[in-house]
Amino acid sequence: MATPAALTTWGITNNGYRCRLGQAVVTAARRSAAGTVLPALLQAADQALPAAVALRRELHASPELGGHETRTAARVAAALGEPGAPSVTTGRLLRMGAAGGPSVAIRAELDALPLAEQTPVAWASRNGASHSCGHDVHLAALTAAGLAVRRVGGPLPLVAVLQPREESQPSGAQDLVGSPQLEAQDVRAMIGVHVHPHVARGQVSVGPGPVNAAYDEITITVRGHGGHAAYPHVTRDPVIAAAHVILALQHLISRRTDPMHSAVLTIGTVQAGAAANVIPEQVVLTGSLRTFEPADRASLRSAVGTTAGATAEAYECTAQATFTQGEPVLDNDPALAAAATACLIQAGFRVVESLRSCGSDDFAYYCTRYPSLMMFAGVGQPGETGAPGLHHPAFLPPEDAVGDVARAMLAGYVAACSVVAAGRAERGQR
Ligand SMILES: [Zn+2]
Repeated sequence: MATPAALTTWGITNNGYRCRLGQAVVTAARRSAAGTVLPALLQAADQALPAAVALRRELHASPELGGHETRTAARVAAALGEPGAPSVTTGRLLRMGAAGGPSVAIRAELDALPLAEQTPVAWASRNGASHSCGHDVHLAALTAAGLAVRRVGGPLPLVAVLQPREESQPSGAQDLVGSPQLEAQDVRAMIGVHVHPHVARGQVSVGPGPVNAAYDEITITVRGHGGHAAYPHVTRDPVIAAAHVILALQHLISRRTDPMHSAVLTIGTVQAGAAANVIPEQVVLTGSLRTFEPADRASLRSAVGTTAGATAEAYECTAQATFTQGEPVLDNDPALAAAATACLIQAGFRVVESLRSCGSDDFAYYCTRYPSLMMFAGVGQPGETGAPGLHHPAFLPPEDAVGDVARAMLAGYVAACSVVAAGRAERGQR
């Protein structure tokens, strides 16, 4: 896939999607945010909110795991007025507006997490899965935003992307990016909004450039020679070797990575043996590597293999590391970020400095194909500490979050329309 690049610096490619935009275009896009389209859309979304909040409760009560989101997708498509919308694996694509020509897309995720919910609400899930990442809020908000565009009309058609498997591998964004179904929509910009408890309610975090890390999963198999725990001298203990491997890997971040570059290496599971009096044959470690710099990603992957192998060898064991490549860096387009800031303010939000973290999101795949923008909508309460965060079974964004996310989506949509229109005008297209 192409390396993500800023809309402000792209040249025109033969697919016609990308263009060079100067400061004048960004300024024009900001000015257009002061138009009347956004207020009308926000008002229409407000009218759709009671139904959207009810839909959020319904989706929340019966979540589906990645790869099984058929019912959720059908329900949201029906709420958007198109129960027969075309499928892409277990996802759906819905287009609001003219059938042909350029469009702006908004992504919402369909899947829940395999966590037993721990919230007190009457509409809590009881099926062992839970919307502990707020995807139910995103889906409900997208219905309010989509219905608003359907009712009021917008500068460009809106494509609602109901995406499967955000939480599992292979991630669902890869089903859509480059698919004939999405390519047929002539998408010129992709917008995403995620609720975030580290941002206060009423605020939206948005900024240009990388905001989430690239992600790789690591599996390290340490092999030794097992035996009786009372006779370690005739074994080669892989537990001792694996313990040293875990410690040795930590120096790759603290001593082999430029301290100005963010990177994280975490070992999350250790699987070894089945009896207290037996030295096992092998230990399997799994973990994750998160990086922002492509060079760090490559060099750290290589260093994990060599460090694990050399450390295990010191204990007359072996270690083999394998990697499952995950998302690339999530790289926000600078022109979209600038234009969205103006629209978010117009929509009544306080725009705060961009939240950047070593978390990852498969929205990053869209950034490799389209100018894209991920925003984080605040659901945190001021002064609140220790509240359940994303992926915690007690995480429950308030119902007001549905309206907040819908308004942020519409602000992003209008901003993207203005940036796309300005780019086309600069290129002399009509
Ligand atoms: Zn999520």
